[in-house]
Amino acid sequence: MTVNLLNYSQPQLAEYFHGLGEKPFRAKQLMRWMHHFGVHDFDQMTDIAKSLRDKLKDQAEITPPGIKLEQISEDGTRKWLIDAGTGNGVETVFIPEAERGTLCVSSQVGCALECTFCSTGRQGFNRNLTVSEIIGQLWVANKALGRDPKGDRIISNVVMMGMGEPLANFDNVVTALNIMLDDSAYGLSRRRVTVSTSGMVPAMDRLRETCPVALAVSLHAPNDALRDVIVPINKKYPIKELMAACQRYLEKAPRDFVTFEYVMLDGVNDSVEHARQLLDIVRDVPCKFNLIPFNPFPNSGYDTSKPEAIRRFRDVLMQADYVVTTRKTRGDDIDAACGQLAGKVQDKTRRTERNKVMQVISVEKTV
Ligand code: SAH
Ligand code: SF4
Repeated sequence: MTVNLLNYSQPQLAEYFHGLGEKPFRAKQLMRWMHHFGVHDFDQMTDIAKSLRDKLKDQAEITPPGIKLEQISEDGTRKWLIDAGTGNGVETVFIPEAERGTLCVSSQVGCALECTFCSTGRQGFNRNLTVSEIIGQLWVANKALGRDPKGDRIISNVVMMGMGEPLANFDNVVTALNIMLDDSAYGLSRRRVTVSTSGMVPAMDRLRETCPVALAVSLHAPNDALRDVIVPINKKYPIKELMAACQRYLEKAPRDFVTFEYVMLDGVNDSVEHARQLLDIVRDVPCKFNLIPFNPFPNSGYDTSKPEAIRRFRDVLMQADYVVTTRKTRGDDIDAACGQLAGKVQDKTRRTERNKVMQVISVEKTV
C-alpha cells in the first residue's frame, strides 16, 4: 500500500526509512524537501540517490489535500476550501496583518461538542482530519503565499481555530504541531502556534506534557449554570477544574498566560455582572481576554451583542488591568468571516449537509 509521507513527523519518517534499510538522516532530507521547499515530486529531490527515489516512487506518495476553491478578499484575507472527500470541505483562512501573517487551520470535519452558538457544533461530527490534511493546510497555504523579499515565510503564526475541536483529534493534531515546530519543516516557535480548546481538561494535561504550544480556551460564560448550556462539555469539566488545568498548563507554556476567548451573545453572557463574575473565576490564572462578537448564522437563535455592551464588558476587564482584545472580522467579501463558503458548496453537492460551515474566522485587534 502506498503511504502518504505528509502524514509523518520526522521521527516517524526516520522509522519508515529504517524499515527500508536507509539511514535516519534521510528523514531530515525528506522533511526539508516536503515542507521547507514544498516539493512533492520525488524526482526533484536531487540529493537523494536515484535508486532510493525509485523505491519511494513505488511505495510512497506526497499528496497534499485537494483544493475545491480559493478566494482572495480585498483586504488580503485568503480562504481555501479543502477537499475532505464525500462532498465535504473544511476551510483554511490566511489573515495578513502588519507584523504577522496568521493561518487559521481546521482539525475535524464537524465537531461533536455541540456548543450552541457554533455552526460547526450544530451540524455534528463527521470525522477527524488526518495529519496530512491538517499539515496539508499549511503546505497548501505556504505554497500559494510564498516568501517575502527577505526570504521569510509569509505565514508566521498558526492558530488551530478553524473547524473542529483540536484536542478531540489529539494524536493527529500533536503530530501536525510537531511538524510545524520542526526546524527542517516549518520551524515555527511554540509561542507562534496556538491551540484553541473548549476545555477538554485531560487532553489539556496531555498537551502540556507532549507539545505545550500557546493555549487559548473558549470560556464564553462566567458561571457553570450558563456554561453548561452554551458549552456543554462544561458538564463534564466544570469551570473550577478548567481553571486548575489552565494553571497546570502554564507551568510548561511558552507564554506565561492563557488567552480566554469569550463570544459576545446579546442578552446571554454580556452584562457588566457577567464581566465581574468572569474576573472572579479567572483570578488565579494569568490570562488575557479575547472578546469575539458573535458571528450570526441562520436559525442560530442568538444575536451579536450591541457595541455598547461589548465596550462596557471590556471596560470592566480593563479596569482590573487585564489585556483585552476584541476581534474584528476580516474578509467579509469572501465570507471568510463566518465560513459560509463551505455551506454554499455543500448546498450544491449535498443538500442535507448545507449547514456544514465553519465558525468565525477573524482577527484580533486591540481596542
Ligand atoms: N473547537 C475549538 C476551536 C475552534 S472554534 C474551540 O472551541 O475553542 C474557534 C473559536 O471560535 C472558539 O472560541 C469558538 O467558541 C468560537 N466560535 C464558534 N462559533 C462562533 C460564532 N458563531 N461566533 C463567534 N465565535 C464563535
Ligand atoms: Fe466544537 Fe469549538 Fe464549535 Fe464548540 S466552539 S462546537 S468545541 S468547534
